[in-house]
Amino acid sequence: MSESGSLKPDQVSGEARLEYRWAAGGTTGEFLQALRDYRRILGAVCGGCGMVAVPPLSYCEICGGDTDELREVGPRGVVTSWARVIEAPQGSPVEAPFRYVLVLLEGADTALVHLAPDDDRVDVGVTVVPEFREGRSGAVTDIKWFVPEG
Ligand SMILES: [Zn+2]
Repeated sequence: MSESGSLKPDQVSGEARLEYRWAAGGTTGEFLQALRDYRRILGAVCGGCGMVAVPPLSYCEICGGDTDELREVGPRGVVTSWARVIEAPQGSPVEAPFRYVLVLLEGADTALVHLAPDDDRVDVGVTVVPEFREGRSGAVTDIKWFVPEG
């Protein structure tokens, strides 16, 4: 709340919390539905250059081509970067400490930003697999996080 002294006589001050819902769209919608219903991760295959992007976009960020098809990728992937989080941001789906990871899934050309446990085995070059939640809602957080394989 701001100081009432800074308001004009015809103004009021307060906070409004608004919850939004919007259509995810065809490409993203299929990606999220596959996570929720089949525990499958889909990538978008570019009709122009063949690049496979995860998460999928309706267009290619490299050549501007349209997505030709959605193709299953992973579930295994390799960690290409990570960062340790010791204080979880507001709304974090997991408690700190945890790690942010970039995972290059098998069959994909772009890395997916996701989470991993704060486990010293999680490092660049390590193969990880997704751990899906039991109650899935059609969100990227239907994958709880990626854990070291084996
Ligand atoms: Zn392309």
